[in-house]
Formats: sequence, structure tokens, C-alpha cells
Amino acid sequence: MKLCSACLLGINCRYNGVSKPNEKIIALSKSEVLIPVCPEQLGEQATPRPNAEIKGGDGLDVLNNKVKVIEPDGNDVSSNFVCGAEEVLKIAKLLGIKEAILKQRSPSCGSGQIYDGTFSGTIKKGDGVTAALLKLNGIEILSEDDFK
Ligand code: SF4
Repeated sequence: MKLCSACLLGINCRYNGVSKPNEKIIALSKSEVLIPVCPEQLGEQATPRPNAEIKGGDGLDVLNNKVKVIEPDGNDVSSNFVCGAEEVLKIAKLLGIKEAILKQRSPSCGSGQIYDGTFSGTIKKGDGVTAALLKLNGIEILSEDDFK
């Protein structure tokens, strides 16, 4: 059993109200239980919603209250992102889950790659807030890039 970013399984939970289905991951769900989670929705954000990026750091820095997750107009949504990450961790602990398949480059789910906070499409190294919290708690992260 693994957690999985809900948008990769065809759930319309992305900021723009659509999904990002990955056919290999959907095929995997026929043979293994994948629990769909969307940390941004679990963090009480609406769908659709403004896109957001981590400015000046990564998800671990957000968890340590050093940098913020902002929307393009500068609105600070850090607390929503931390809340969503904590809810996902709660689900993992409840079910004893040790692995997660996460959407790449998201400020929540990105693992090793995120957008750089300039809203210019530029990618930098780092984890999203949920990926960082799961890693801190010993959960192994696979990204969608492992299912190309
Ligand atoms: Fe997908 Fe994660 Fe973004 Fe939710 S927070 S839409 S699961 S990438």
C-alpha cells in the first residue's frame, strides 16, 4: 500500500481544477492499493485556486518557518501547506504506509525538484512541503518521473 498524489490518479484536484493522470501509475493501482491524497485540498484550499510556489527555499525551510509559500499576488498560504502536509502524514501513520508516489515539481508534492518561487517556470532542487515532511518521518518517496 502506498500514498499517491491524487492528481496522478485522475482526480481533478490541481490548482487549475484538472488532474494530471499518469497511465502507468493508474495501471499500478489495479495491482496495488494506492491511497489518493491531495495535501493542498487537505490543507483547506479551494479548487480551483491560485498557483503557489515556495519563495527563497524549499519545503523543509517552510516547515522550519524560514520561508513562505506564496501565491502570485504575494498572499501567504504557508499555513495551508503545512496543515495539508500534516494531514497526509496522519493518513500515512494511520494506515502504516511507508512509501508514497508524488507529483513532481509541486510546492506540496515535489520531490527533489520544485519551482523556484519566481512564477517564471524555473525549476530548482528541493522538496515540496508534504514531500519534506514525509521524508522527515521515514517515508520513501517515488516521483511520477519514476513512472515515465
Ligand atoms: Fe496533485 Fe499534490 Fe498538487 Fe494535490 S497538492 S494537486 S496531489 S500535486
